[in-house]
Amino acid sequence: MLVVQKYGGSSVATLERIRAVAQRVLERQRSGDQVVVVVSAMSGETNRLIEVANQLHRLGREQQASAVARGTGWIAPAKRDDPEFERELSQLVSTGEVQSAALLAMAIQDLGGRAVSAVGHQLGVVTSGSFVNARIVHIDAARIRQAVSEGTVVVCAGFQGLDQQGNVTTLGRGGSDTSAVALAAALAADECEILTDVDGVYTTDPRIVPSARKLERISHEEMLELASLGSKVLQIRSVEFAKKFAVPVHVRSSLNDQPGTRIVPETPDMEAVLVSGVALDRDEAKVTITNCPDVPGTIAAVFIALGERGIVVDMIIQNASREGRTDVTFTVPEAELSRTLETLGKLPLTHPGIELLTDAQVAKISIVGVGMRTHAGVAAKAFKALADEGINIQMVSTSEIKVSVVVEEKYGELALRALHAAFDLDRITREG
Ligand code: ADP
Ligand code: ASP
Ligand code: MG
Repeated sequence: MLVVQKYGGSSVATLERIRAVAQRVLERQRSGDQVVVVVSAMSGETNRLIEVANQLHRLGREQQASAVARGTGWIAPAKRDDPEFERELSQLVSTGEVQSAALLAMAIQDLGGRAVSAVGHQLGVVTSGSFVNARIVHIDAARIRQAVSEGTVVVCAGFQGLDQQGNVTTLGRGGSDTSAVALAAALAADECEILTDVDGVYTTDPRIVPSARKLERISHEEMLELASLGSKVLQIRSVEFAKKFAVPVHVRSSLNDQPGTRIVPETPDMEAVLVSGVALDRDEAKVTITNCPDVPGTIAAVFIALGERGIVVDMIIQNASREGRTDVTFTVPEAELSRTLETLGKLPLTHPGIELLTDAQVAKISIVGVGMRTHAGVAAKAFKALADEGINIQMVSTSEIKVSVVVEEKYGELALRALHAAFDLDRITREG
């Protein structure tokens, strides 16, 4: 069988770890499988490169700290609308993966194996869209297939591609996951293994809730929700690819041989479990516009302006109107807060009494599960669990398979634990 193995940053963090990965890759190959490897940059390297670029531009420390840590806005806000900067940043950060790919290929050769490393353009990864949040549109897998059929391990630098104008692009934070799944799709691989520093996908982040349980299987829909609601373990686009091209994905530890979590199409028995995961996202900020004139077009103008600048709005709440005025509250990624305020500042929101309030000290906690489609009372149970802890809910949004609440940031982890316990997630598992 042909397997694509992706090793994340912590799995290639040191030369020792790189040697261990080389060993693991060769063992897999010796067991009779063909192996294509995708690597991330060594842990911390991408952040370091982003910081260096931001320092060169003398961007404030605070501003960059939020930009570096966030999945959505890793470019400091002051540079977000500067395509020249984004182009060079992509060129720069893509080198993190170039280094680890070459090192791993050397390590495999050292152990007597045959390996060749390849970067985005050598792999024929064609992208479209922005420089730093590019989307893969095509992969020409012919060369990889040829090398693999000759017994060579191709070690691919993840996270990158080349756009049609010949610019090096990157796929957004966590993008090596997407490189791996897309390569697996292009190669029609039998499996894509995502090897990381946890044993699989858990009911919630095991670093925050130690009693979290590993799920043996999770549906694409649930994984998509968890990924987009703040769980780091897989980049959302990798799950979209897996679903669209039916790529079997197996998330497991790079440190042991235990089976991990398989991302699979939904099966009817999955609805028996009400909630399968809980996610925490600390990176949202809340904006309220008070006393908006309650006439058609006011809200539209606000969200059109934000949309034009590419600011993704998450939750939106409009209060019931009183005396022709209403309050609108919405959330945006925290890293986009300053651009949001700048955009709103340019609008003619001049009615007397209009005020703009912001709060970056909020967290979003979401419960996810396909079982919600067929069970009533999930939101009520969640609200009660939070009330029992004395946690006030500021905003709520729901979809078919999730309930999200916004609370004060300092209660985020407590809320996560309370919901994890309320839905018995430390006890219930979904068997494989
Ligand atoms: P890699 O460097 O291998 O890409 P990441 O840091 O991107 O790894 O993702 C793995 C991390 O995701 C884990 O260390 C864990 O803290 C975090 N995480 C968040 N939510 C979950 C979850 N539900 N299950 C497993 N890990 C999670
Ligand atoms: N190195 C990139 C990042 O840190 C891509 C990845 O690790 O998947 O976001
Ligand atoms: Mg990752």
